Amino acid sequence: MPELPEVETVRRGLAPAMEGARFTKIEVHRGDLRWPLPKDFTQRLQGKTVTGIGRRAKYLLADLSSNDVLIMHLGMSGSFHVFRKSGDKALGRYHHERAQHAAHDHVVFHMSSGAIVTFNDPRRFGSMKIVAREKLDAEPLLSRLGPEPLGNAFDAAMLANACKGKKTSLKAALLDQRVVAGLGNIYVCEALHRALLSPTRMASTIASKIGAPNDRAERLVEGIKAVLNDAIEAGGSSLRDHKRTDGDLGMFQHNFRVYEREGEKCPTPGCRGTVKRIVQNGRSTFYCPVCQK
Ligand SMILES: [Zn+2]
Repeated sequence: MPELPEVETVRRGLAPAMEGARFTKIEVHRGDLRWPLPKDFTQRLQGKTVTGIGRRAKYLLADLSSNDVLIMHLGMSGSFHVFRKSGDKALGRYHHERAQHAAHDHVVFHMSSGAIVTFNDPRRFGSMKIVAREKLDAEPLLSRLGPEPLGNAFDAAMLANACKGKKTSLKAALLDQRVVAGLGNIYVCEALHRALLSPTRMASTIASKIGAPNDRAERLVEGIKAVLNDAIEAGGSSLRDHKRTDGDLGMFQHNFRVYEREGEKCPTPGCRGTVKRIVQNGRSTFYCPVCQK
């Protein structure tokens, strides 16, 4: 399931094909994604220019010249592919490699830039929605999201305040999109390892009773920002490599330190621990019981 860095990489891959370009044709092969596409979907896009592509948590937001915003979510298995009209050569394949069959190309955007952008999603948990820009703040998909972890406002004080008094595990707190937006299982495991904090530790222990941050909160925020920035960097360099070679993208083969590394030696310098897997709230957690306290 794509998390924030993957979605950011997709955004950067789509921008050159879509920003400043008009929708010249929209094909909808299947409109029943996670939710049905709006009835006027094609009509509201046709002829409109994409003025910019942004991101909020795991949502891609394409600003349109009509003052509408096209909200796109990759779901579990969604991917975008960018083709050029001439030669049919894939310019970019943005997302998981399993989604390659044209039968799952549910939505196809033909852009005035000459690019053809396909949205492929075998499991159809992805979604697209169009909202008027002035209603964006009230949009239920976005309005309950917590802070962007890479935003300036997200710091130890903010995270500690959100975790104040929380009796859930730190892992569960970080997966809660109201506490911090865009993190999923992989990057939560990785951030906790970098911060040397146990995923089973109670969330409230990164804050004082009144919600002031302690050293753990500081380390955790640093760990979150570092792991996300590294992953975005890795995605960005795959995009650059891809443009050079026209080959397939391997952008999601990041080097994780603990995720899916059960039984391997802990990579923390000086630590002699072994990465362990436990199950929390039905999902695997990977961590080092020796250095993560
Ligand atoms: Zn360790």
